[in-house]
Amino acid sequence: MSKSLVCTCEDVTASEVEHAISKGYCDIESVKRFTGFGTGMCQGKQCLNAVARLLEDKAPKKPAPAQLMPFTPRPPLFPTELGYWASAAFDPARAPAGGVPAVDIASPTLRSEAPVKAKAKIVIIGGGIMGLALAWNLAELGETDVVVLEKGYLCAGASGRNGGGIRAQWGTPTLISLARRSIELMKRFARDMGINVWFRQGGYLFLAKSDEVVRKIERGAALHNQHGVPTQILTPDAARDVVPQLTLKGVKAAAWNPKDAVIFPWPFLWGYAQQAQKRGVQVETFTDVVGFELGGGKIKKVITDRGEIACETVVLAAGAWSPQIAKLAGVHLPNHPHRHEICSTEPLKPFLGPLVSVLDSGLYFSQSMRGEIVGGMGDPREPVGLNLGSTSRFLTRYAQALTEQLPQTGRVKVLRQWSGPYDVTPDNSPILGKTPKLENLLNLSGFVGHGFMMAPAVAERMAKWMATGESDELFERFTLSRFAEGRMEREDMIIG
Ligand SMILES: Cc1cc2nc3c(=O)[nH]c(=O)nc-3n(C[C@H](O)[C@H](O)[C@H](O)COP(=O)(O)OP(=O)(O)OC[C@H]3O[C@@H](n4cnc5c(N)ncnc54)[C@H](O)[C@@H]3O)c2cc1C
Repeated sequence: MSKSLVCTCEDVTASEVEHAISKGYCDIESVKRFTGFGTGMCQGKQCLNAVARLLEDKAPKKPAPAQLMPFTPRPPLFPTELGYWASAAFDPARAPAGGVPAVDIASPTLRSEAPVKAKAKIVIIGGGIMGLALAWNLAELGETDVVVLEKGYLCAGASGRNGGGIRAQWGTPTLISLARRSIELMKRFARDMGINVWFRQGGYLFLAKSDEVVRKIERGAALHNQHGVPTQILTPDAARDVVPQLTLKGVKAAAWNPKDAVIFPWPFLWGYAQQAQKRGVQVETFTDVVGFELGGGKIKKVITDRGEIACETVVLAAGAWSPQIAKLAGVHLPNHPHRHEICSTEPLKPFLGPLVSVLDSGLYFSQSMRGEIVGGMGDPREPVGLNLGSTSRFLTRYAQALTEQLPQTGRVKVLRQWSGPYDVTPDNSPILGKTPKLENLLNLSGFVGHGFMMAPAVAERMAKWMATGESDELFERFTLSRFAEGRMEREDMIIG
């Protein structure tokens, strides 16, 4: 029985599902993320029932109906060729509509009935990569009286919805050095944390189609070389040597760093969460922060839908949701959420080494270790808002851009599309450190579309800064107060 396959597309056995349940993943969404069941060609249509039955039989506590509900439906309804989408029409002048709506991340039916603990030294709001990496780093430094509050499941936010690209090709020395440190930490994450993260160092190839973008990558390469990053500027022919399948029509030059990489995001969250929990940190999922008790210029208590926690320090690491939570404490954050859509295809034999991005249009795509082409493209017409729906407009724009650059993908089928929020600040740089007039509220948000690759390095420094009290210029330069003081920390190597 234990060796019988429940998901034939992804070779997931009954014993792997049972292993997930034994690790505490007792709802369909979490088991899907932990085992990968339901992510293949059948899109979950054949395996969902079998996993629901196993959950019902094997979970230590009888699952509530909501735990057995089919997982969030991901369009398209059937695997559909990219060439089909590329032949569809869309109106470039119109803003994208809401699309197929996503299920609400916070599922009150999955909330534990037990109250949260009444007191903790540090409360971290947001169980994305930022909050969990910080919690683990704090625990490593002996700060274990920490609670992480997450309103959904782990991976519910942008950290579970991103492209998994990690690169050192940035436009400022600070981001270059943070990314270099993160790549180092991500490279050894599997060994340190005991979990496979599918790290693959295939490089990043940026294509430039206009003179302005050529100048940008040339300036960037000079800066990278000064800071130990071996970026080279390539002619279109040399770029074709890196990815022979590319058509390079209109491409004037490319920037190539073979040391950049791609990873699979989800295990990073599980790795940080599990290791932090082993050291005594509490990670409370399905726990919504709904308010604060303030007094004497401080936050005294964090109020959740499972009770209140008195604390000394609060870290706001809720990504694109941070402004709405800050508002509950009377604080205005200038971040704006912007939906970014993304999709994944059926698996192909490995052929694509680097993550390729056309900087002019915001198209990016890479091949995961499972063989899927994962990619996206920002939409200049996307309005501000926390919309997590999926549109056919995105698939059409993306398919047109991708098949123009990589024609062989026309016959490849899209299996899943989804979206996540970029957490955009006025200068494309994060908001870190103290909050004016509410000093025990620390910020860790505003990472636009590059927070995943920044998290290991930023969290390492933030934990040290918090635990030792030693000064660190990162938490003095990137403060919320810089906007009122007119100090911008502009970053322009943004994709999308
Ligand atoms: C489509 C897409 C592609 C991307 N590609 C890349 C990439 O290739 N490389 C890269 O480095 N970055 C990429 N990013 C950006 C990256 O995913 C984010 O910058 C990063 O994940 C942010 O992490 P976070 O922990 O700050 O936020 P999140 O992961 O969003 O975590 C915040 C958490 O807070 C929780 N929360 C919200 N409100 C509450 C509340 N009231 N109470 C409790 N919890 C709450 C949310 O449920 C969420 O889980 C991409 C993003 C998107 C959307």
